[in-house]
Parts: sequence; C-alpha cells; structure tokens
Amino acid sequence: MTDSSSVADVDANALLDEANSTSDGQGEPKFTLELNQDQKDIRDWVHGFAENVVRPAAEEWDEREETPWPVIEEAAKIGLYSFEAVGQFWADETGLTLPIANEELFWGDAGIGMAIMGTTLAVAAIFGQGTPEQMGEWIPQCFGTPDDVKLGAFCASEPDAGSDVSGIRTTAKYDEAKDEWVLNGQKAWATNGGIANVHVIIASVDRELGSRGHAAFVIPPGTKGCEQGAKVKKHGLRASHTADVHLDDCRIPGSCLLGGKEKLDERLARVREGKKAKSQAAMQTFEASRPTVGAQALGIARAAYEYALDYAKEREQFGRKIVENQSIAFDLANMKLEIDAARLLVWRAAWMGRQGHKFENAEGSMSKLKAGEVAVWVTERAIQILGGNGYTREFPVERMHRDSKIYTIFEGTSEIQQLVISRAISGFHIK
Ligand SMILES: Cc1cc2nc3c(=O)[nH]c(=O)nc-3n(C[C@H](O)[C@H](O)[C@H](O)COP(=O)(O)OP(=O)(O)OC[C@H]3O[C@@H](n4cnc5c(N)ncnc54)[C@H](O)[C@@H]3O)c2cc1C
Repeated sequence: MTDSSSVADVDANALLDEANSTSDGQGEPKFTLELNQDQKDIRDWVHGFAENVVRPAAEEWDEREETPWPVIEEAAKIGLYSFEAVGQFWADETGLTLPIANEELFWGDAGIGMAIMGTTLAVAAIFGQGTPEQMGEWIPQCFGTPDDVKLGAFCASEPDAGSDVSGIRTTAKYDEAKDEWVLNGQKAWATNGGIANVHVIIASVDRELGSRGHAAFVIPPGTKGCEQGAKVKKHGLRASHTADVHLDDCRIPGSCLLGGKEKLDERLARVREGKKAKSQAAMQTFEASRPTVGAQALGIARAAYEYALDYAKEREQFGRKIVENQSIAFDLANMKLEIDAARLLVWRAAWMGRQGHKFENAEGSMSKLKAGEVAVWVTERAIQILGGNGYTREFPVERMHRDSKIYTIFEGTSEIQQLVISRAISGFHIK
C-alpha cells in the first residue's frame, strides 16, 4: 500500500479547482492504456485495502445486513473514505483513476464497496449542480471526519418513479416570505437513506414540466420532516443500507437549492418558452456516474473469475483438473474476454466524460450496460464452475452473484440503457 498521507493531505479547494479545469493548457490528455505512476499507486493502495480489510469482513456484513461502520471508519482513517480521495480520483485528467479505484474496491466486496462509495452519488450531484460555495459547504459534510464518519444519500427514485423519473411526485414549493423551500413526498430505495448526514433530493418544482421541472435540493443534517421509512431487505449488496425516505413539510433554507434560484428560474423560463432545457437534475447525475458504476460491476466480475480460475486449477474429477475440460476452460476464457471488453468500454466512457465529450452514441450507457450484464453472467458461470460449492454460502461466488444482479437494475436498468443507446444511434424516439 502507498502511504495514505499522499491522498489525505490534499487541499480540498485546490482539488476542486483542479477538477474543474479540464486541461493543463497543452490540449486534452491522449487516451492510453498505459497507466501512469499515480494511477498505479492509487490502484495498488485501494487494492491493498480491499484485500486486507474489505475481503475479510465481507461475509460477516453480508449476513448482518447492516452498514459496516467499522470498515468505513478504517477507510476514513487511511484517507480512502474522504472528500480529498474522491477529489483526487476525479482530478485525474484522463478520467481513469475513478473507475480503477472503484474496480479494486468492489473486487474486495460489493456490499462494503457500496457502503463506502454510496456517498459519492450525493457528492456527484452536489459537484455537478452546486455552486462552488455549496460544494465547499456540503461535500465535506457528506464524509464527516475519520473520528466522526458521516454518509451522503442521493434520492431520486420513488415508489411510482423508477425508470421513469418524470413520474416524480415529491414537490418543492418556495416560501418567498421566509426564503425557504418546503418539500413533501416519499423517496424509495435510497442508498444510505435516512442514515445519511446529507440527503440530496430530486423534487418537482413544476409538475406540468415533467422531468424538466425537477431540481436538486440539499437537506442539511438533522432537518425536521426528513425521516427514514422502511429499510429494504435485499437479494444482494446487503452491507449497504437501502431505505425509503419521507419528506413531510420539510423546510430548508433557500440556499439549499443546488445551483441557486436564479439559475433555476432561468431554466424554467426557457422550458416554458418551449426551448430546450440544458439539463435535467437526476439525469445529469446518472450520466456522469455510469462508467464508475460499470467499474464496480467489473470489480465483482473479476473477483468471481479469479476465484473460479483458481478453483478449476485445483479441483479434480475423473482423474484430472476440471480446467483441463474444454467446457470449463472455454468458459473461463470467455469470462476473461468479456471482463476485458467491458473494461475497455468503461475506460472509454470515463475518458470521454472527463474530457467533456458528448456521449454521441450513449457511450456512458454502453459501458454500464455491458459491465452489468457481464458481471451477472460471469458470476453465474463462476457458481457453475464451483458446482455444489458454488451454490453454498461457504464460497464467495454465491454472494458475488447476488451482488452483481443490482448492476442490471439501478442507475438505469439494462433495458433503459438499451433505450438510451438505440435513441442515440437512430435519432428516433424509440419507446
Ligand atoms: C439496492 C438498490 C439501491 C438503490 N439506490 C438508489 C439510490 O441511491 N437513489 C435512487 O434514487 N434510487 C436508487 N435505487 C432505485 C433504482 O435506481 C431503481 O430501482 C431503478 O431505476 C429501476 O426502477 P424501478 O425499480 O421502479 O423499476 P421499473 O422502472 O418499474 O422497471 C421494471 C422493469 O420494466 C422495465 N422497463 C421500464 N420502462 C421500460 C421501457 N420504457 N422500455 C423497456 N423496459 C422498461 C425495466 O427495465 C425493468 O425491467 C436503488 C435500487 C436498489 C434496488
């Protein structure tokens, strides 16, 4: 592992400045598969944590179905769970450090990985839509400090608005006299929902405008009227907390509207005039995070592939190692092939996103779709290669398979990614 201080001692404001500039003035960085020393150091550092801290704890927290606070605290102590680390990953001009770090962490364990990285969805929303002042105020509060660790939650989905975010019913009404926003509604399946220090809520300020009438709000810690609802019992990713969030006359200061009221009013006026809105609050967050989510799925797939390969080289049936059967060896070859192909798509999208290139062919969606489907397929094959052992909770591939499935569902289901890609390539409004 590299010295953790190299990541922890970074000045937060300098990072924001660095991350906000896309180029060093010498043109955009070339896409290369040759990792630089910083990228290798961060990869090895995260890998060391995943191997030595995350993996040994994986089974316990999956069974307990609770947030693994001690592991998050360990991550905070070495600087991995921090604003500075995420800032440093993001600051890499090539865009590759963020997927590399996520792949390594989720190689350790996806449930714990999500308990550590779930906060970054809220951070991405604040970073993508907030003013510099809002970033400086709220992003550090999503993480807390190593002695007092906190979480962030991003809440877009609702019971009747999953794939179709235009169905969001949570409302935000402006009380001009008090310069406050009043939020009412119910959010569903929120990672860290109700246990987070900072919640980012997507709410409708004008229902008639559908998703173009949405805005993102920060709910400050301890705000009255923002409560956790039912905690969800899940198939996988069980170390990560998922719950409903209820907003009941939840009053927040006017300054908690991400991007500010002036910008919102301008955007709404454009939409009402029939002009195109530049962005939709939830969509903007999802688009930026898709390659990173794909990288998480890749981490699970790689872990299962490596486990199955080792197992197949040890296990003997009919007097020979099972890997000596073509059917097993070809499966392993295809698993490796699919993982590497998915990684190339993830890295391409991450690079494009960081350079500010438009995803003309929905390259972000392509990366998430491919990586999610590969993770489900590879982990299922890993169970098959382990036979009866693979089906038991004594061996980790069973957990990996359960964990992988969410990657075809959240942050846009596989079908929704296909919809986005098919619309982008055809120019038709495919339904
Ligand atoms: C563990 C977990 C964590 C989550 N974390 C968060 C979070 O932190 N924040 C958050 O906001 N949300 C979160 N979610 C919610 C998640 O993003 C939604 O579950 C997801 O977007 C799908 O929405 P839905 O469940 O309502 O499915 P639905 O939208 O009801 O879809 C059901 C099925 O219909 C298909 N379908 C729907 N529309 C179409 C169409 N037009 N064409 C073809 N097929 C279609 C879908 O692909 C899917 O197969 C989380 C969910 C889970 C399970």
